[in-house]
Amino acid sequence: MISVAIDGPGGAGKSTAARAAAERTGLKYMDTGAIYRSLGRYLRRSGVDIDREEAVAAALPALDVEVFYNEEGQQIRINGEDMLPYIRTPEAGDAASRTSAYGCVRDKLLQLQRDTAERYSVIMDGRDIGTVVLPNADLKIYITADPQERGRRRFLELWERGRRDITLEGVTEEIRQRDERDRKRPIAPLRRAEDARLLDTTNRSPEEVTELICTWIREKEAEQ
Ligand code: C5P
Repeated sequence: MISVAIDGPGGAGKSTAARAAAERTGLKYMDTGAIYRSLGRYLRRSGVDIDREEAVAAALPALDVEVFYNEEGQQIRINGEDMLPYIRTPEAGDAASRTSAYGCVRDKLLQLQRDTAERYSVIMDGRDIGTVVLPNADLKIYITADPQERGRRRFLELWERGRRDITLEGVTEEIRQRDERDRKRPIAPLRRAEDARLLDTTNRSPEEVTELICTWIREKEAEQ
């Protein structure tokens, strides 16, 4: 069994590289941002005032969050509803970043993430994987990129998904605000674990980043 923790700000290329590296190395990929997005989006859509922690805390016990795997990879259901079609939007990212600052939300999702790492060899990506969720991960990587480049990548990703109501400036600003909130929150803030390798993807292709991560994973596997 091996566990790989990948953290970093939005748009740095974590998910793309983690998903591809998992496929090549045969590890399970857990996208923890997708779980926070699902929960944030579900809460907002249910009419919960997500800017009030008490309102969110009151709504949580009635929510059954399930994460499981099938041929298409990681699936997320809340109260039986498939959440994946609704979470790749700036609105879901915003709802995730507001609600993920609350201790009650983080507590609800912590065990679910750890259970997966106990059951499978995993690559998990998020904001606090190396610092909180898997502090004893075999390999920790902190992926970052220049803020303008991160905005550009996220903009292109959304554009390719068919969004025509966005601008590069708007997306870059939305990512900046979300990062600031993720970095400044008192509970499980985004930060590099002391023992995490730093990987700046600004001038690297997704293929190069994936290959580098695979090399590090193979090195760790060889040590075991
Ligand atoms: O990675 P992604 O952009 O999908 O994450 C959406 C939001 O979910 C982040 O901005 C962050 O607020 C939250 N998140 C978190 N902890 C994680 C993963 C994501 O707080 N481990």
